[in-house]
Amino acid sequence: MYDVVVIGSGPGGYVSAIKSAQLGKSVAIVEKGDLGGTCTNRGCIPTKALLAATHLFEEVKTKGARLGVKVEGLSYDIDKIFRHMITNINMSKKGIDYLLKKNKITLYKGKAVITSRNTVEVPESKEKIEAKNIVIATGSYPSLFPPFSEIDGIWTSDDVFAMKELPKSLLIVGGGVIGCEMATFFGRMGVEVHIFEIMEHILPTEDADTAEIIRKSLKKMGVKIYESSKVKDVKREESGFLVISETPSGDIEVKVDKVLVSVGRRANIGDDVKALGIEVEKGIVTDKHMRTNIPNIFAIGDVRGAIMLAHTAMYEGIVAAENIAGIDTEMDYRAVPSVVFTSPEIGSVGVREKDIEKGKVKVGKFPLMANGKARVLLEREGFAKVIVDKDTEEVIGFTVVGPNATEMVMEGVVAIQNRLKLEQLIRSIHPHPTLSEMVLGALEMAEGSAIHM
Ligand code: NAD
Repeated sequence: MYDVVVIGSGPGGYVSAIKSAQLGKSVAIVEKGDLGGTCTNRGCIPTKALLAATHLFEEVKTKGARLGVKVEGLSYDIDKIFRHMITNINMSKKGIDYLLKKNKITLYKGKAVITSRNTVEVPESKEKIEAKNIVIATGSYPSLFPPFSEIDGIWTSDDVFAMKELPKSLLIVGGGVIGCEMATFFGRMGVEVHIFEIMEHILPTEDADTAEIIRKSLKKMGVKIYESSKVKDVKREESGFLVISETPSGDIEVKVDKVLVSVGRRANIGDDVKALGIEVEKGIVTDKHMRTNIPNIFAIGDVRGAIMLAHTAMYEGIVAAENIAGIDTEMDYRAVPSVVFTSPEIGSVGVREKDIEKGKVKVGKFPLMANGKARVLLEREGFAKVIVDKDTEEVIGFTVVGPNATEMVMEGVVAIQNRLKLEQLIRSIHPHPTLSEMVLGALEMAEGSAIHM
């Protein structure tokens, strides 16, 4: 009997398995597909590999001449871009395989079925795995509903990475994180892109001023954005699709080669979970120890149907492993960063301005164009924004929009996680010349006035 069997080897599952092994437990992991789950195979890694290539292409195209870098006949080789993506997926899978072996974790290949509180079966290989604890990390799948689910050839993020060539035109339903990252890739590659977003603005979980910068940048790439707009119908044509949508200025029809639906994801919960009596709402319900209503069964990551981010899943995996090992830890969601790899990038953590009562906070904002390093990089669009609780002086919200914002957000994560006060951050010397001085500017603005504004 193993101490732990983990179902699913995505970022939540493999990290939890490794942590359990490091805490001295005997561990098995079951995976029905490729190691690494959505993140490695159909999510974070392939998207960022594609965006790395297009980012370089865009930089040379738009900045080369102004910086005195001469490139004649600039073009791209899409096959090589896809190869870079596949190489990265393979390297990540190999890395996980290596780490599982290094930590003496037994890998079972096939679909796991939980048949009792201590038994997981793999019908394909007729294996029966007995374990004292079970960690469910079976992830999520893209939401698809009518009319999209009734038509062949509609893409979700599961399909997009299998493309062999670029479509000439693409319509994206849902201007959330996937929609905007994909529009950035395809837009930069010269594909005609349309985004339809049902809410008032794209990236509706972020503030309107954040969305405004991304909207402007996507439009500059030629992406057409329809907000407060709903797709009413889709028809398969001889080649491509005809999409009929309701927009604030009336109904419109768009003909495109491909349609990508990115309207969120659903928890991947098998019938076995329900049959066992595990409590399920939008996802598997757990307490802060990641424990389900059955005390030796834990659930982590997207399958909980809550925050669907790889880094949250990893952290939940560690919390589950620690509790299994008898270390009483609780999951703390106070400072979960959100990172969006658009152009420019977005990094945000804590509260957003739109969600907070104005009188209770101080908001400081500093524009990217007033930052010296940004000017050197020929970057203009972006800002840093900090939100400070007036009573406690603690930083409770932090957003950066600009180059490397997905890295810069860590200052906000550390501040919010550790309840740091505005003064403590202002008194931390920000290196010059760096983009992080933009954050210092926002902190100073929250206090009253910034030196460089
Ligand atoms: P999302 O929730 O980020 O965005 C979905 C968007 O679709 C929203 O803006 C929503 O308003 C819109 N929408 C919903 N129904 C619609 C409809 N009928 N018509 C038009 N628009 C509609 O979801 P996603 O982009 O599909 O991503 C799925 C999950 O994966 C999210 O949890 C996301 O955070 C995660 N993810 C994260 C990253 C990252 O961290 N960089 C990257 C990709 C995906």
